[in-house]
Amino acid sequence: MAYIGRFAPTPSGPLHFGSLVAALASYLDARANQGRWLVRIEDLDPPRTAPGSIDAIFRCLEAFGLHWDGEPMYQSLRQDAYQHALSQLQQQQLVYACSCSRSQFVSNPDYSCNCRQTAPSSQPVAMKVIAADTRFTVQDLILPPQTQHLAQQVGDFVVQRKDQLFAYQLAVVVDDAAQNISHVMRGSDLYDQTPRQAWLQACLQLPQPHYAHIPIITNTQGQKLSKQNLAAALDLKQAPALLSEALERLGQATPCNFRQAPVAEQLAWAVEQWDIKAIPARKQDPIAFA
Ligand code: GLU
Repeated sequence: MAYIGRFAPTPSGPLHFGSLVAALASYLDARANQGRWLVRIEDLDPPRTAPGSIDAIFRCLEAFGLHWDGEPMYQSLRQDAYQHALSQLQQQQLVYACSCSRSQFVSNPDYSCNCRQTAPSSQPVAMKVIAADTRFTVQDLILPPQTQHLAQQVGDFVVQRKDQLFAYQLAVVVDDAAQNISHVMRGSDLYDQTPRQAWLQACLQLPQPHYAHIPIITNTQGQKLSKQNLAAALDLKQAPALLSEALERLGQATPCNFRQAPVAEQLAWAVEQWDIKAIPARKQDPIAFA
């Protein structure tokens, strides 16, 4: 099977150090396996797309020498594909309309949705997929295999929101298949969600890529670096030093004085030396990024 990897940022703000580590890991694993490396802009929720952030992401990847193959894919242009997938689920009677509101779940932890039994009368509705009522296991190339009983541990989950936007879970499996992604390497915050994606792949008869989850980078409060908690944008003037720090977080031993080496030189060396087994098998990097 030809190796095709991807980086799939949500353009809700500029890339931060955690995004760099994820982009770098997927890039190096693809290049070390003579693979292609694609970029997909996950602008599924247009109001959350920060103005200028898509261009800033491309400029940032280029500044770090992370050159992608082909044209980027944009989720905002993929509504027909998601609608087609939803229709396939509807034909198999694997989805149902749900009129519950988020606040019902949030205000009452014991709230249980009955929409699967009683067709909701009021509009608008979200569409939920029926969770697998069995235990199944998804392998990971870094973390241990993960066994989940989706119906008991997660429950039915949303594939199209009430505001008609398609949910990440549906879009990601449709797009990974459309881009023929063979390897998904990303932050471990998505590890627990992978069985949901594997279930949708099974329902839609899509191939399952290999998954590899890397430790997430946190701030000094122990939170994952993210746009929500205002992680600093990557400083492009510091690209060589940041790239070599990202390599260290991925467990790749770097030569002395590497922090000053041009990014192209660092990447060429890192592709040559790449060792996926050296990536720490843990969900979180123990050192905060300050
Ligand atoms: N768009 C997601 C993010 O920016 C990543 C999704 C994925 O890699 O599956 O966190």
